[in-house]
Amino acid sequence: MRKVQHVTVLGATGSVGLNTLDVISRHPDKFEVVALTANRNVDSLFGLCVKFRPTYAVMLDAGGAERLRRRVTEAALATEVLCGAGALEEVATLPQVDTVMAAIVGIAGLRPALAAARAGKKILLANKESLVTAGAIFIDAVKRSGGVLLPIDSEHNAIFQALPRRFTGDLGAVGVRRILLTASGGPFRTTPLEDLEQVTPQQACAHPNWIMGRKISVDSATMMNKGLEVIEARWLFNAGEPCIKVVIHPESVIHSLVEYIDGSMIAQLGNPDMRTPIAYALGYPERIDAGTDFLDLARVRALHFEEPDHRRFPCLDLAYQALRAGGSAPTSLNAANEVAVASFLEGRLRFSDIARLIESVLGRVACTTITTIEDVLAADRKSRLCAEEWLRKAGSDATVEAKMSYAGR
Ligand code: NAD
Ligand code: MG
Repeated sequence: MRKVQHVTVLGATGSVGLNTLDVISRHPDKFEVVALTANRNVDSLFGLCVKFRPTYAVMLDAGGAERLRRRVTEAALATEVLCGAGALEEVATLPQVDTVMAAIVGIAGLRPALAAARAGKKILLANKESLVTAGAIFIDAVKRSGGVLLPIDSEHNAIFQALPRRFTGDLGAVGVRRILLTASGGPFRTTPLEDLEQVTPQQACAHPNWIMGRKISVDSATMMNKGLEVIEARWLFNAGEPCIKVVIHPESVIHSLVEYIDGSMIAQLGNPDMRTPIAYALGYPERIDAGTDFLDLARVRALHFEEPDHRRFPCLDLAYQALRAGGSAPTSLNAANEVAVASFLEGRLRFSDIARLIESVLGRVACTTITTIEDVLAADRKSRLCAEEWLRKAGSDATVEAKMSYAGR
């Protein structure tokens, strides 16, 4: 690599953020950390400041920023502590920053990732919600600024690796017939359907192959994660919906495939370890050590594939439906899903009601045209309100139901 890359890690204390810093720590000659950001976790961000000595650390929360500032001063670190959503955009666009890892979870990650895109940075995009909610705006910003967009989601990173380097947005021109996204099927792939009503957040977060943040773990259990990834692929690879196919592959060894018109399929394989796609993107266009174990094919022995069961995973169909509707529909899908998953994790919503809530929001919030980021945020707000209303109604229905069953005893 020619020069040291100066990096901002948005969402540094999360699963992708920590994996990114693990790879960076293996290459002190190649990377320098300029800024690290977190939502509320002061202890974790302070530990990272001690280790990586960034110029800036951002806490979203004002109280958290104050506590971090005290600890940074006590430890005599030179790190400047900033606070608030504006500061996230600030550290994503600093002139001395070359590379931005966008690893905040949810639509909260949209503005800083988009700011990095507009500033022409090399963007390592983990935050799929940015493309789901503002795909056209985001891709246009990268094109206009001359930035480089590299997918971190393991499936999209695999597809990126399986496409020819000369691909610039026309799949037909490079002979691609279809893109195949692999999905593990999550922890409930074989759970009896009637048991899905009762599953707990702990069970939903226990992914068989990947260790990830709680939101994406629940998304993997409902397969909404794959639905969001279908929409993400549509924007990253300028792919029409009929040429994006999902296939269940429980071992998570093949991370995705590209099918060409001559019948060839090119896949990327590896152990399920996010440090591989992260290292690929950090080092791009060169390859660097990721610190992962190498795949032992003889130990894997067999790879399995199956069609997704649509009755088991209604969220996948809802995502395709939103993609086909276009406009603000994917934003509504994402907003309803964020509200539903948070409620499920708080014990306020049953697992199987996640899809019901999202379907109801998609049916009730009018689909509008999206041209600006304000349009996206307005559609997001409207859909969240609709989702909250559904929850309130479901809550009062549940109370009535409970009272009735009590009275009937
Ligand atoms: P996580 O929950 O582990 O971490 C999220 C990070 O974002 C944390 O640093 C947190 O402090 C920060 N954050 C949360 N809310 C915030 C807010 N409102 N404002 C500012 N910062 C906030 O999540 P994760 O699993 O690392 O996932 C991050 C993103 O990467 C998601 O979009 C996810 O879909 C995507 N992704 C993750 C994985 C994975 O292996 N974890 C794989 C592929 C894609
Ligand atoms: Mg993925």
